[in-house]
Amino acid sequence: MRLRNIPGADEAIASSPYCIQDPASNRGSWQNFFQNDHPVHIETGMGKGRFILQLALQNPGINYIGIEKYTSVLLRAIQKLETIEAPSNLYFLCVDADQLPQIFAPGEVSRIYLNFSDPWPKKRHARRRLTSREFLSCYDQILSADGTLEFKTDNRQLFDFSLEEIPAAGWKLVARTYDLHHDERLNTGNIMTEYEEKFSASGNPIYKLIASRNP
Ligand code: SAM
Repeated sequence: MRLRNIPGADEAIASSPYCIQDPASNRGSWQNFFQNDHPVHIETGMGKGRFILQLALQNPGINYIGIEKYTSVLLRAIQKLETIEAPSNLYFLCVDADQLPQIFAPGEVSRIYLNFSDPWPKKRHARRRLTSREFLSCYDQILSADGTLEFKTDNRQLFDFSLEEIPAAGWKLVARTYDLHHDERLNTGNIMTEYEEKFSASGNPIYKLIASRNP
């Protein structure tokens, strides 16, 4: 998702209390930042942020960080927070996912969510897919030993690619479904993202996998 450039978006993000300006300065001390000892969960490529906002409202005992690389998209998430009583356990970063190891210390993140990541269908762009072995190696550097990665998509090619990348990168597949909304177990407590609502309304099945690092 890339919205047209929005004038003033950069400035709005630079001055937003919900957006952390120098995230690398909290590397290794994110719990100090949140002033608690709760686990840290992140969503990479959060778009307009509905999913992570719902999670944060439902789970005050978890610290959430939403990551989005485009200011034009992140601005929408910030504007959403400005219209509600924003939860104190949710912050945003405007960075590319390839920066994650510079922002989080080893083992500092307990869960990573990837939702409807851009498919990058051309083979020569495979390494840009957020479930590629290159990105799994980034996540490997920040995820706790018992941490998990949760990925949802409606794109069958990207899903099949991800299922291959997980063992190739030395990760373990914990669960998968080819029809999340009709999978009683995996759909329990499911929060729909903006893209999920759109694609499932057009009849597309939603695929989901959960993976963990092999100890
Ligand atoms: N997760 C949202 C949802 O399900 O509604 C948005 C999905 S949208 C297709 C993918 C989002 O990931 C876009 O907003 C895009 O800007 C962001 N994104 C793609 N690659 C990224 C990267 N390398 N780092 C951070 N964000 C990224």
